[in-house]
Amino acid sequence: MSATAFLRSRLVVAGLIALLLFGLERGNRADREFRETLYVFGTLVEVVIYDEAPAKARAATAALGQAFQRYHSDWHAWQPGELENLNAAIAAGTSYTVDPTLAAVLRQGSQLSCASGGLFDPAIGGLVGLWGFHADTPPQGARPAAADVDAFLAAHPGMSDLRFDGNRISSVNPAVQLDLGGFAKGVALDLAARDLAARGIHNAVLNAGGDVNVIGGHGARPWRVAIRDPFVWGAVAAISLRSGEVLYTSGNYERYLDHGGVRFSHILDPRTGLPVREIVSVSVLDTNGARADAAATALSVAGRDGWVDTARDMGVEAVLLIDAAGRSYATPAMAARLEPVAGVLPEGLQVIALPQIPVSGAPVSYQSARDQSQGQRCPVF
Ligand code: ADP
Ligand code: MG
Repeated sequence: MSATAFLRSRLVVAGLIALLLFGLERGNRADREFRETLYVFGTLVEVVIYDEAPAKARAATAALGQAFQRYHSDWHAWQPGELENLNAAIAAGTSYTVDPTLAAVLRQGSQLSCASGGLFDPAIGGLVGLWGFHADTPPQGARPAAADVDAFLAAHPGMSDLRFDGNRISSVNPAVQLDLGGFAKGVALDLAARDLAARGIHNAVLNAGGDVNVIGGHGARPWRVAIRDPFVWGAVAAISLRSGEVLYTSGNYERYLDHGGVRFSHILDPRTGLPVREIVSVSVLDTNGARADAAATALSVAGRDGWVDTARDMGVEAVLLIDAAGRSYATPAMAARLEPVAGVLPEGLQVIALPQIPVSGAPVSYQSARDQSQGQRCPVF
């Protein structure tokens, strides 16, 4: 697929989500909406601002567009910019001073990675590249050579290899290559939502292809967001988001390597070096986009047996998970929020309680039970 066709298909996806989002609200309310589509990290971000003066909404959105451009070039995993400079320094065994925002993102990534027990690990850029996902279009080639994957596993790069000296960053392991793709959208939308609120915008939604942060509501009603069906065109359920809530979905339906009719997900298991196969979609409802995005990725890796522990360890309570056989599982907190689309909820939804739920809104530096048992602590910066 050409880059333009790929982008166009994403535009259609964004359009479908938007339709589902605001289907109930169409009509006389549309004239009170300000809409703009921005671009960041290979994804279109739809910004909808409700009930504000057009000039104010336009100025706020223009500022977001500029910020997204900065994040796009500063945090890009395979195009020239700050992150590429840092990756080059790490490979050369030296340090590099990044701007304060990127340093904060990397600290946040280290905490989230630790809380996930390493299932979410933005230091596995080398592996992501091996599988061909360092490109704007889905990879068409063959799977990587087993020897290359084995060499990656033997080098065992991880976020815990990073060392922070203020904004000067280095790694004790030269195999670390940073790729923020697993949570960059969440970080960017968190910053954008904060910026909109600071500009006095009271009602807005930021929608990056179904990954959503909301502020306020849509008139008297909440923003209603659909969760995509990973198997067929449509939605499995919808959720009415409260102000400050976020909903993030990781799935292998959008970006994958198609090889001999087999789809290889762009979510990779750092333990095996292989793409995730068991889980096709994980949605996390939370109040922090970075955590929700990272958790959706980590829970995909954790699989059917591990996801409840990983959710607890990362401090997320509301999860919907769909496996490759089409079975869906939800925590009680998520099940309570799912609304049927076209009159139906996911068939045979199994509600599974988390073993031990930390206090709602626990900080991302939450110390996991697994780490405690190993006598280690997640770093607190
Ligand atoms: P999406 O972009 O569809 O929302 P994710 O949030 O799960 O999906 O991000 C997937 C991206 O995260 C991959 O393209 C890759 O850049 C990166 N990635 C893949 N596996 C992992 C992992 N185990 N930990 C951290 N990042 C990952
Ligand atoms: Mg993610």
